[in-house]
Amino acid sequence: MTSPSLPPLREVIARHGLAAQKSLGQNFLLDLNLTGRIARSAGSLDDHDVVEVGPGPGGLTRALLDAGARRVVAIEKDRRCISALEEIAAVYPGRLEIIEGDALATDMAALVNAPARIIANLPYNIATPLLVGWLQTEPWPPWYDSLTLMFQREVAERIVARPGTKAYGRLGVLAQWRTRARILFDVDRRAFTPPPSVTSSVVELVPRNAPLSEADPRALERVVAAAFGQRRKMLRASLKSLGRDPLPLLEQAQIDPTKRAEELDIEAFCALARAFAAERPS
Ligand code: SAM
Repeated sequence: MTSPSLPPLREVIARHGLAAQKSLGQNFLLDLNLTGRIARSAGSLDDHDVVEVGPGPGGLTRALLDAGARRVVAIEKDRRCISALEEIAAVYPGRLEIIEGDALATDMAALVNAPARIIANLPYNIATPLLVGWLQTEPWPPWYDSLTLMFQREVAERIVARPGTKAYGRLGVLAQWRTRARILFDVDRRAFTPPPSVTSSVVELVPRNAPLSEADPRALERVVAAAFGQRRKMLRASLKSLGRDPLPLLEQAQIDPTKRAEELDIEAFCALARAFAAERPS
């Protein structure tokens, strides 16, 4: 259901001169059935503050408010969108806070009551760094209790990829280490204005109470980046980029040095991260 007092999004875009800019990853959703589906897929929002990154003209923002979100904090970099969003805020008094700024430089935890939910049709150019930042949050469990996010299909596949598959890599290890991640549904490129070149997917990530296995997030990030940086090589070679002799590290973690990154499960990467963090560089 959409608030009858707001005009159609096409009219909003025309009136506020919101021609999509590629540099800001602007692919707008104008189909209110679809934005409603995304909002509903995040579960009941009545008791939650929601962070939305990149509200643009506000299609998903409206849907989140209509779905009953207690409060939406919407962070938008494009100044042109702010007056359009203020019109929505006026229809939902006290429930929409608009922050003009760069989401990558915003301390989101400070803006909401925990546990919040993060729900967004992300700008594709910063989708991965945003996700990695949310996954590296300290302390854990984090200030949010779910992420419901639109990614390019190929990125979504990497987030949920299992060991031994081509898509398995840094993103899958970091995401599945601390969350349960799954693809909810695909969205055809023609649902966006303008259409991007590829299919998109909505992904749900729910934080685990405790990570799959103990590891320091920075150490895990470093060993995973090194291992997958040269994914075709055996670990005894690829891990040299850590600046240490890989063999004692692999021995400590009880990993066969002739294995390749994609053969290691997340627990094995955590063992490697623990060995890396424990060993003082000589
Ligand atoms: N939520 C809207 C929708 O679904 O129609 C717009 C989604 S569009 C894919 C991405 C939005 O993110 C754009 O409005 C863009 O201006 C905004 N954006 C891009 N970079 C940003 C950044 N660094 N911080 C905050 N917003 C950003």
